Amino acid sequence: MNLILLFPKDYTGNGERVRLCGRRFRHIVDVHQVSVGQNLRVGLVNGQMGTGSITNLKKDMLEMEVELSIEPPSALPVTLILALPRPKVLKRVLLCATSMGVKKIILLNTWRVEKSFWKSPALQEEKIREALVLGLEQACDTIFPEVMLRPLFKPFVEDELPELIQGTLPLMAHPGGSTPFPGKVEQAVTLAMGSEGGFISYEVEKLQECGFQMVSLGERILRVESAVPALLSRLL
Ligand code: SAM
Repeated sequence: MNLILLFPKDYTGNGERVRLCGRRFRHIVDVHQVSVGQNLRVGLVNGQMGTGSITNLKKDMLEMEVELSIEPPSALPVTLILALPRPKVLKRVLLCATSMGVKKIILLNTWRVEKSFWKSPALQEEKIREALVLGLEQACDTIFPEVMLRPLFKPFVEDELPELIQGTLPLMAHPGGSTPFPGKVEQAVTLAMGSEGGFISYEVEKLQECGFQMVSLGERILRVESAVPALLSRLL
């Protein structure tokens, strides 16, 4: 936790004072091993960042006086369309994409996504939010990404995608594609990625019809959780 992410409910109603207990309190005490008077990097969710000075430290809570004046880092201009990965991978991928600055993530059904994944508790709003919070805390950012679930491939690609990709470079990451993934891109990107089983030919064709260019990182086939940072880092 490189940034303590604050929420409006943390404010005590006494000026800029916040009170923390639970997970963030434990982390601050156990990892940062703070004492009264010490400063920590803090940020208000969807707002500015700054410092929090510890004014009160008890065995189950602490209070800080916060001063916020720093803007969060710029977003990565990438919309990530990801075939829904298995639940334990989903959390890691959401955390990773969030910490790399992606602000729009679309979880899409494809032929090779196991149907049971759509019923997983990992897709509950609260669970998704937990992963996003960890990503923001990791990267010192405060702006929550938007996560959209699209359990129907064809209507999404035919009805929503053409508008979504407007003004962006639409890329489909596909191992074996003959075009190398571009090194540096000067415009916003919409990046589509397959599931563990990849895209089937029909999906590749539908994405190509929509304007997506098939690009590859080379002959090595990476797991989704490795491919996400490898691809995004090219665009950073
Ligand atoms: N057997 C699948 C195939 O051949 O498509 C492997 C899919 S891979 C485990 C999961 C996803 O990660 C792929 O659909 C792709 O989006 C991305 N990926 C993995 N390795 C890649 C590479 N070398 N180049 C581009 N994308 C890659």
